[in-house]
Amino acid sequence: MDYFSIIYKDPLFSIIIIIAIITLVAIADYTKNRYKQKIKQQSLSDFAKNFENYGTDENIGSLLDTSKYPASTFTFIANIYVTNGNFGEAIKMYLTILDKTQNLGEKIQILELLGIAYYKAGFMQRAKNIFIEILKHNPRNTKVLLLLVQTYEILGEYKNALSVVSCLEELDEKVDEVKKYIQILILINDSLMPLNEREVEILNINKKSKITKKIVLNYFKTYNIQRFWDLICDSNDIINYIDILWNINNPPIDQIKINKQVADVYRAKGIICDDIECDIFELETLRVINKYSNKVGDLGFKYKCSYCQGIYPFEIFRCPTCAEIGGIHLVLEIMEANNEKYNYIL
Ligand SMILES: [Zn+2]
Repeated sequence: MDYFSIIYKDPLFSIIIIIAIITLVAIADYTKNRYKQKIKQQSLSDFAKNFENYGTDENIGSLLDTSKYPASTFTFIANIYVTNGNFGEAIKMYLTILDKTQNLGEKIQILELLGIAYYKAGFMQRAKNIFIEILKHNPRNTKVLLLLVQTYEILGEYKNALSVVSCLEELDEKVDEVKKYIQILILINDSLMPLNEREVEILNINKKSKITKKIVLNYFKTYNIQRFWDLICDSNDIINYIDILWNINNPPIDQIKINKQVADVYRAKGIICDDIECDIFELETLRVINKYSNKVGDLGFKYKCSYCQGIYPFEIFRCPTCAEIGGIHLVLEIMEANNEKYNYIL
């Protein structure tokens, strides 16, 4: 037996070899991770530089260098700027903090806040780029995924929005209604698909959705008015669609009389003149004014979010404040019309 055979068969030698291998692997792994971290940090820093044309704040920068307070204090101030709608200052602060922060986790957090500030300020393209960059580092960040869906939606990139919704589905997020809503938006905006095919698909999705009916009604009002009347006369509750009906002056009287709620709108408008009272207070008030007074009443509309109670003067489907879909309710306002009394032929 030679010298080396003895060494190889020595159990102590084997243990030393195993420990050496484990140590080497650990060192290699640590070095690899450090390198990866550095590359990620560098790529984030390079990415942030793309936005610096908005300007960093030198005063805040030097304050950050000398201050004993952590960067989170400055982030807190920037968040207050966002709350108050001072997005320019907030963006400058975030960019400055981003420039001074070395920690990868903190950098991503600030990048997220910066993306939200751009989103709220209406810089959708910048917000989109930032959200995509964050997702490269953290693809399971559901908050950013949801923000990216909204950003794509505002940019009109509905197919991309749907891809992100699929990612959220894989993460077990409840996005079933959002998915149908985006699918409807894709169909409505798909000018290449023949109208009849589009109609079938829209109706199929709408049947299963709780939140898309108003969008679909608006679509059919433009593209297939008969389908519009069929759908609306089939509705049990039309309170949220009164604004659409109010702007149509030539309804098919015989058809709409089947649905009292729809007919009430035209009683209030003075187009149907009978003595049947309207169920909704505002409509009944207008019916009485139009029938018995020389004054002409009209309806104004506002849109209220039932989730955050925000009120908007224009029609929306997704609340711009809380981003919820399907919670917008119509608020009716009686007002005096400026024009002369209508003379409808009955
Ligand atoms: Zn809201």
